[in-house]
Order: sequence, then structure tokens, then C-alpha cells
Amino acid sequence: MTTITSAQAYLVDIDVETVRTDAVQAFLKQETVFVSITTSDGLTGVGYSYTIGTGGRSVLQMLRDHLVPRLEGQDSSKIEAIWMDLFASTRATTVGAITSLALAAVDTALWDLKCQRAAAPLWKVAGGFRRDVPLYDTEGGWLHLSQDELVSGAIASRDAGWGGAKLKVGKASHREDLERLLAVREAVGDRFDIMVDANQSMTAAEAIRRAHSFEPVDLFWFEEPLPATDISGHERLARATTIPIAVGESMYSIAQFREYLERGAASIIQVDAARVGGITPWIKVAHLAESFNVAVCPHFLMELHVSLVAAVPNGRYVEHIPQLRSITRNEMAIKDGHALAPDTPGLGIEWDPDAIDDRRVA
Ligand code: MG
Repeated sequence: MTTITSAQAYLVDIDVETVRTDAVQAFLKQETVFVSITTSDGLTGVGYSYTIGTGGRSVLQMLRDHLVPRLEGQDSSKIEAIWMDLFASTRATTVGAITSLALAAVDTALWDLKCQRAAAPLWKVAGGFRRDVPLYDTEGGWLHLSQDELVSGAIASRDAGWGGAKLKVGKASHREDLERLLAVREAVGDRFDIMVDANQSMTAAEAIRRAHSFEPVDLFWFEEPLPATDISGHERLARATTIPIAVGESMYSIAQFREYLERGAASIIQVDAARVGGITPWIKVAHLAESFNVAVCPHFLMELHVSLVAAVPNGRYVEHIPQLRSITRNEMAIKDGHALAPDTPGLGIEWDPDAIDDRRVA
């Protein structure tokens, strides 16, 4: 048994690498919540979760007040037992975003320890399907970018051998959305995937209307057309269009995914390891989707998700939005248009302690 001897939580602010806007918000900064856990065999696991600009201090306080104090003395290899203990002990605030983000920081630290102890990389410990996974770009598709910028970004992704590019939609006029999409389709040809993302900005009626107008673009998916709470709206939309509907980045528990899948309200699952509560529930959601013959294309966090997409047979795409470069010593490897999961023991993210200390805010 490897007993947890100490644990601590802290908050690090990272500037965004470029301006990122969508139909409802801007990515202001990455509030990165870290948990480090040391065990009796001398290993230290580092886990993390994030927000895109608000709530990070609430996540940190949840960890410091309620979760971290329960860790000392526990067997670090009993990840399910620890996860359930933390979940049960915060029952009055679960399911909820703050608690799920806090749980994720602990859970990913425990998985880091598990992989170090196994002397194996996460992508193998979590399942081990194949190391290289297809990549699509979001970094060239933000809503404020001009049509020319969208076109040149998508061409660059295609020429680099990547599988696709995602463009934000939700301009006031659906004609403007359509013109931008058609310009990109014409530029990249018909062998390149184009995804769109409305960031929950539409009503079901408006999403059905826009999906109808987008049909000639031959989209790979239509992401978060509606608020995540509107499952029946997603169901109606999915029935009304041939475009696959993608959801998941705004869901904080396994059961929400089950309901979408059962009702046929989504056909691409974008489960985010930080928002769903860690690697432990992420894997469960991926397997749940597999049982429905549905692909998993996780939201953001490419530095971690590359290993999880590589772990499961239904992992389809990793989303390219680099965000950890200022606090890490390595970068996600890309070869022939594919992302390569790290082959080193642990999560495969080489943190830069000095850079982290410089940006520590709490
Ligand atoms: Mg999105």
C-alpha cells in the first residue's frame, strides 16, 4: 500500500496564447488549479483542472476546505474509492461545476501516480489502443477572425496533414455564417473535415434553421448548438438534420452523457476530463459512448486528452488549442498530421516548476 503522506492545492494563472472568441464569451485567461500528492514510496503526482477565466478561486477553496484534507492516510492506488469518498463528502454541492473541477485536479494527480508506479504512459495504462490520433484545429477558427483569416488557417491545417478545422458560428446573420463556411469549403476542397461550434448560443428553432442552411457545406459536426440543459431541443435538432450533433464540454457528470446518448440527442461526445471530474469518469463516458457506437472527441486540454483519445477504440479526434506552453518543458508531439501521445511514465506533461511558481496567484 502506498499511503498519501501530503497533498496541496494551488492556483496558477496562464495568459491565453492568442485572442479566442466565440458566440457567447472570450477566453480571458486559463485559471489552472493544481493538486500535488506525495506518497509513502516517495513519488509525487501532479494533477490539474482549469477554467477559462472565472471560478478558479472557488475550485481552489473547495479543494482546500473539503477535498485535500481527506486525502492524507489514504491508499493512493484506490482511485475509485477516493473519488467516491470525495464525491460523497461534498454531496450538497454535487453534481456541480466547481466540485467536478476540484475532483478532476485530485483524480488526475492520482492517475499520474498510478502511471508512474506502473512505469508506463497514461495512454497505455488507461487502455492502450493506438499512440497516434487524428488532429483538428480550433485555433484558426475564432469568431472575430475575418473570412480571409479563416480560409488561410484552414488551408494551413489541411496542408499540414491535419484532418479538419473548426469554425465558430453564431454571427447575427446566418447568411454571414454560411458565407464564411462556404468560403472555407471552397478553399480546402472536399477531403477535409469542417466542424462548427455555436457555444450554446441558439434556440432549437434557430439551430434547426441554420443547420438546414449549412447542409451544403458537408460539416463533420455541429457543436453545442443549444444550451446543454436543453436535451429535448438537441433531440429535435438531431432528427431534423443530417449533420452530426456534438456535445459534452458543458457537462459535469456521467449521467448527463447517458441521457443524451439514450435519447439520440448527440452523435459525437466531447467529454472534458477536467469538467467531468477527472480521468476516472472520462474513461467511463468514453466506454459508455462506445456501447452506443459513438465517437469521442474531447474538448480542449489537448496535452492531457491526447493520451485518453489514444487509450480508447472510439477516440476520433484531438482538438488543437495549445495552452500549457508557458509552464511546460515539452509540447504535444505532432507527426504527419497526427498527435502522438507521450510515451513517458505518468501523464506525459513535463511541468516547469519555476514558470509555475512565477504565475502562482493563490
Ligand atoms: Mg466548443
